[in-house]
Amino acid sequence: MTDKQYLVGVDIGGTKIEAVLTDASGAVLDSKRVPARRGGDNVVEDVVSLVREVAGDRLSDVTRVGMGTPGQVDSTTGRIANVVNLDIDTLELGALSGERLGLPVHVDNDVNAAAVGAAAVLCGDDTDGTVVFLNFGTGLAAGILIDGVLQHGYSGAAGEIGHVPVDPNRFACPCGQQGCLETVCSGASVARLWPTADGVPPMPDLIAKARGGDADARRVLAMVTHAIVDAVQIAAQSVDPRMIIFGGGMAKTGQPLIDVTLDELHAREASCPFLKGLDLGSRIRLAPADAPLGAIGAALA
Ligand SMILES: [Zn+2]
Repeated sequence: MTDKQYLVGVDIGGTKIEAVLTDASGAVLDSKRVPARRGGDNVVEDVVSLVREVAGDRLSDVTRVGMGTPGQVDSTTGRIANVVNLDIDTLELGALSGERLGLPVHVDNDVNAAAVGAAAVLCGDDTDGTVVFLNFGTGLAAGILIDGVLQHGYSGAAGEIGHVPVDPNRFACPCGQQGCLETVCSGASVARLWPTADGVPPMPDLIAKARGGDADARRVLAMVTHAIVDAVQIAAQSVDPRMIIFGGGMAKTGQPLIDVTLDELHAREASCPFLKGLDLGSRIRLAPADAPLGAIGAALA
């Protein structure tokens, strides 16, 4: 017996499942990943064997397992629903995997888990105040932490800003509304607005072409950055965070994404002393691109 305590975090994605073993502070000690298989039974089997594998002979000192998953998540019961990429209608993920592991399992949505992971990596123990994580992934959503605690809201929908309709004349959204933010500023929508050859990420290409003077690229980039800054302002002016973290696949664009965001933000500030006074640009950070944020955050959430 040791008095060491460990946590395991599992990030369930559409293509891979990744698990980390961490100490109580979230420092990663080991990690494992497997390709994701579709279907609820396979997902439970894969996460259970991955948790056992990553914990190894320290499994008996693991106090808690956290999981982050796409789809609708009831974090109170651990039930997940409508995970389209994995062919899951509903699955008692928390109960089934907890039973097989003999451990308490907490399930949260993948954006919330990544928010906790990004804040842990960027802020460390300094959890005071509010942090917003903007996930520019396939869709757009925010994770909100207040004093280190994830905010779920009344029905679990806190931070679902991707489906705020900002322009009723613009694109139809699969959610049924018109002009939602995520129809313009998410990874999937930028890929639709600025198609590139296979394997070429659209956002860096769009920024490079716009800077090179391509008129189409400048028009599309203006739309995208307009929506990004709308998202920043909606999140920032709702909860006045000390830090706004850009994450998700589109954030791998890196500094050029921050630069074009600041261009749009500063243009707005030029005519609005209120906005300028908030100095939102100084609060924006990039999520670390090389850390398994979803799995780390799942362990800590
Ligand atoms: Zn929508």
